[in-house]
Amino acid sequence: MARPKGDSPVFKRSYLTADRVLDYMVGHGTAETEPQRALRAATDGLPNSGMRSSPEAAQLLRFLVEAIGAKRAIEVGTFTGYGALAIALGLAKGGKLITCDTDARVDLARKAWEAAGVADRIELRTGPAVATLDKLIAAGEAGTFDFAFIDADKPNYANYYERCLALLRPRGIVAVDNVLWGGSVVDENGDRGESTVAIKAFNDALAKDDRVTIAMLAVGDGLTLACKRSSLS
Ligand code: CA
Repeated sequence: MARPKGDSPVFKRSYLTADRVLDYMVGHGTAETEPQRALRAATDGLPNSGMRSSPEAAQLLRFLVEAIGAKRAIEVGTFTGYGALAIALGLAKGGKLITCDTDARVDLARKAWEAAGVADRIELRTGPAVATLDKLIAAGEAGTFDFAFIDADKPNYANYYERCLALLRPRGIVAVDNVLWGGSVVDENGDRGESTVAIKAFNDALAKDDRVTIAMLAVGDGLTLACKRSSLS
C-alpha cells in the first residue's frame, strides 16, 4: 500500500527485548517454515523491507488463526505476502484468505505461497482496500469472517477497521499491526507525521471502543488484537 514517505521509523523488531533475548524468543517460539524463511530473506532485499512483519508477529497470526479454527480470513496490505503466508498456514481445511493491496509484490508472494502449498487458499484482490471491503459487505458477507489482519497505509486504519469489524462474526478477531510505530506514539518532541497522527488517533479510539475486547501487545512494532463482542451481529 502507499505509505507517506519520510515518516516511517524502523519497526522490524519487538520492543523491550535485548537482541540476544529476542533471538532466543524467535528461535524457540517461531516455527518458521522454509518458504517463510526464504520469503523473509527475499523481502529483506527490498528497499521498503521495513514493511514486512516480524517473524514473531507472523507466528502469532498463525497461532490465532489456528486456535480459533478460522476458515475465512481477510488481510489488508499484502506487500510480499509474508503475513498472508502465516495466516494461510493457520487456516482450517478448506479455509480461504482474501488479501488486498494496490501494489503487492505478486511475484515474490505467489512463489512463496506455492512453495508452502497454500496458494489455493489465498485470493489476492488488487485495488484500494476500502473498495474491496465495501464490495464484500455489499455482497452480504458481513458477519462471515473469523479473522482479519490490518497492515497497510496508516491514515486509512480507521476505515479498514470499521469495515473489518463489520465483516467479522461475533468473537472474530481483528489484528492491527504497527500500533506503536517505532515508538513514535510517545514521541515527546511531537512527531506530526501523517502516519503517526493517524495511529495515535486510531489507538485512542480503539481504547474506548466497547464493541470489542482488546489486547495491545509489544510484539514486532506493536500489535493490537480486538475481539468482536458476541452481543454484536
Ligand atoms: Ca507492518
